Amino acid sequence: MPVPFVRDETFTLLHRGNTVARTVETSDGARAFGWAYSGERWSATRPEDGEPPADVTVICPVCSLPLRYRVYSVAAADKIRASFRWAAAVVAVVAVLGVVLAAQMIGIADDSALPDAERDAAVPGVVTGVLVAMAGLTGAWALFLKANAQVGVTGRGAGAAGYAKHVVGREGE
Ligand SMILES: [Zn+2]
Repeated sequence: MPVPFVRDETFTLLHRGNTVARTVETSDGARAFGWAYSGERWSATRPEDGEPPADVTVICPVCSLPLRYRVYSVAAADKIRASFRWAAAVVAVVAVLGVVLAAQMIGIADDSALPDAERDAAVPGVVTGVLVAMAGLTGAWALFLKANAQVGVTGRGAGAAGYAKHVVGREGE
């Protein structure tokens, strides 16, 4: 589970140094295939709950690009994260319905007591159910990762689950 949001946060702004994945050394000295990021920390105090988000500009220490970010209150940050969790849950329910549909249709398609025409007619339902289940599980997982990647800040590279040019994270995550 991600660390709860607090008012005084230290964020990291990282600039990706290479565009193609290469061998990099991780902090414990192991070698891994990935992207080399460098950057710095910046501290921010979140607005009081109920106050509008604060706009801040952070200068990237590597490319000197000014990057604009919006820092949300703890309550608003929780809400953003919760909305992604909700979306993940809804999509997961759709995936379960796909499994149920596929199971029902497999039951019909496999029932030798039923006429062939009825059994054949159930096959598209099996395929649809399996596809819905697979797409739903993939989507739910992506939204779950997205929920955990939220840092209560929006802007370039903030809360991105992928490998953006600039990545904002919370220190210690
Ligand atoms: Zn940069």
